[in-house]
Amino acid sequence: MLTELRRIVESMAEANTLELALQALVSQTRLAMMVDCCSVYVSEPEMRRYRLAATDGLAESAVGKATLPFEQGIVGLVGQREELINLADAPSHPSFKFLPDVAEEAFRSFLGAPIMHQRQVVGILVVQQKESRLFDEGEESFMVTLAAQLAARIAQAQAKGWLQKTDWSKPLRGIAGASGIAMAKAWVWRPRKELNSITPRKDEDHARQLERLNVAVEEVRHDLESLALRFRESYSQDSVAIFDIYLHLLNDPGYIKPIRNKVSKEHWTGVSAVKLISDRLIDQFKGMKDPYLQERSTDVKDIAQRLISRLVQNEPEHIAIGEPVVLVADEVTATILAEVPREFLTGVVSLKGGTNSHAAILARAMGVAAIMGVDLPLGDIGGRMLVVDGYSGDLFIEPNQVILTEYRQLLSEERALDTLVRSVDNQPSETADGVPVSLLLNAGLSADTEISLNQLADGVGLYRTEIPFMLQDSFPSEWEQTARYRGILETYRNRPVCMRTLDVGGDKQLPYFPIVEENPFLGWRGIRLTLDHPELFLVQLKAMLRASEGLDNLAIMLPMISSVSEIKASRRLLDQAWREVSEEAASREAVIRYPSLGVMIEVPSALYILPEMAPLIDFWSVGSNDLTQYLLAVDRNNARVANIYDAFHPAVIRALQLLVDASHRYQKPVSVCGELAGDPVGVLLLLAMGYRRFSMNTHNIARIKYVLRQSTLSELTVLLTDGLKHDNPHVLRGLFARYLEEHGLGGLLRAGHKTKQTD
Ligand code: PEP
Ligand code: MG
Repeated sequence: MLTELRRIVESMAEANTLELALQALVSQTRLAMMVDCCSVYVSEPEMRRYRLAATDGLAESAVGKATLPFEQGIVGLVGQREELINLADAPSHPSFKFLPDVAEEAFRSFLGAPIMHQRQVVGILVVQQKESRLFDEGEESFMVTLAAQLAARIAQAQAKGWLQKTDWSKPLRGIAGASGIAMAKAWVWRPRKELNSITPRKDEDHARQLERLNVAVEEVRHDLESLALRFRESYSQDSVAIFDIYLHLLNDPGYIKPIRNKVSKEHWTGVSAVKLISDRLIDQFKGMKDPYLQERSTDVKDIAQRLISRLVQNEPEHIAIGEPVVLVADEVTATILAEVPREFLTGVVSLKGGTNSHAAILARAMGVAAIMGVDLPLGDIGGRMLVVDGYSGDLFIEPNQVILTEYRQLLSEERALDTLVRSVDNQPSETADGVPVSLLLNAGLSADTEISLNQLADGVGLYRTEIPFMLQDSFPSEWEQTARYRGILETYRNRPVCMRTLDVGGDKQLPYFPIVEENPFLGWRGIRLTLDHPELFLVQLKAMLRASEGLDNLAIMLPMISSVSEIKASRRLLDQAWREVSEEAASREAVIRYPSLGVMIEVPSALYILPEMAPLIDFWSVGSNDLTQYLLAVDRNNARVANIYDAFHPAVIRALQLLVDASHRYQKPVSVCGELAGDPVGVLLLLAMGYRRFSMNTHNIARIKYVLRQSTLSELTVLLTDGLKHDNPHVLRGLFARYLEEHGLGGLLRAGHKTKQTD
């Protein structure tokens, strides 16, 4: 049976859509188990019913149509009991329900297995036989195993709304790419010639092909430069940097030269050469483990598509839009986004891509709501009214009046809230009862577009240095690093900037320094790696120190500290780096200030050595993302356990309390730089515990400032005491959420949804 099972699972995996996967499953299971009928029912929780999603044996006309309430039939009973039901004579069972449309009157025996995902019944797998018999143990375990294999696939499809593709009253669910709400007609972008549709061919007139290719490269370069120029006028430096990456690719001999060679030496046409080389590069990027680098395959595809467009038709793609639209494309890219006139662009929907896509990054910088990775019938969507909910990732197509009214209301509330939030821009950052707080910026993550100045930020609380390392094809030199760090220290001149030393490993891999481990989050990560490579660590420390010359606003922070010896070793290296750069600076009569040195509290062991640590460091900063992950033993990136990843867990709360108490006792400043600090509910909890320094992404600063200004510390302290009595994360969160609502800040709870640890 194992071979059959494997075959069924493999053919399901190969199927592109859930419908095809289920169809393959029922047909093959019917054959493998030698039964007369196999069917899958999929649950529709909002309607509290099951829908027949595939069958081999029942009436095919009932697929997608026949439904059964959760409480009815033996199928319903399997779901209620959440266990296998094996009956020799199903029609005589009291729960049996006759469904006229499905034609099951011929069947007597019934074996149904619940399909469970994260404790929820997402469907029921059923086999039936004409002959009356009980199924044996082997058949039962086969069904249980199959149902378990099926669970994740159905749950994923349900989450994305694939099952209701034809029923547009329900939203489709994608990834929330950029927060905000957009309501406008869909405008679908399609390339002139799809990269995938090209069949490579040769042309002996390679001189002419090469000449056309060279012209196309120059034209695309020119197009990109003018797009960058257009962006430079309106958006941050970092958004423009995305175009630099494109131009870099176009200038990269590793990309363009092989294309030219394919034309001149192997005599492929220009279009074919672009396809052959780009496909190879795209596959390489896709094969990378790091999600950010995987997304770079999109950049290659975008450039290739542009080259091909220029090669097939000698004029740029022209976008003629004269009214507000939601841009929809199979894969929205930075350049497509830049080409749509800004005044008409209200929202973005991309079938491919995730939160790290450049399109999502740009959409955030532009303040345009975006949904990524949503499955949608592109050919059928142009001109239809869309509602884009960039907070939840919900996309409504041709929504009814109720939805439209609700979203119009939300949109106007959001605008009012934004105006309200910005109204306190010039007021001090303090609570309603006058307790001052510091609001700091988290910068450097690819998803953070703004390393430009956020006027509301009191400084940078966390600058993640790993992304520049990840974007290169070798370790960046000391001078490259110095220039980059200098830019940030200068932008935040006269405000403190806390730079974290390299935190690669875990889910952040360097393409040129692969680390293959069984358990990367518990492996060679952060400070462990840099201490093992002092030559790399020293270069980074020296670059930071050098960059701070004359600015004196640098603080250095160490990631993943789990023992005192790591701090001592790091301090020795910092001393050495400082001596070297100081000697050199002295020869120029310059002085380099010795920076303050802090550590991240994100590994639980660090909490138990605070007294020993205190004399060795200048400050602490809580990485609540990792602290939650390691305390609860829940992978922060694993969707399967996402429901138990909870920073409001009593253990996390006690850990946070322990640290803030120690910071008072040892008089060491402490901040929080994990996502909890930028969450409107989380920040109130932290404030009540005694935290006063919060570091968050640029989008959250204004809102959090507003929240804090509306909140009274003395009231929050009472709330915390009450909440802790319950020892229940939901109750605790509920208490603080209600406090926000009572203070007219309920609208922010909606915005707070985006503050997942992936943002
Ligand atoms: C954290 O762990 O909370 C943190 C801020 O660091 P990172 O998210 O980069 O691991
Ligand atoms: Mg961390």
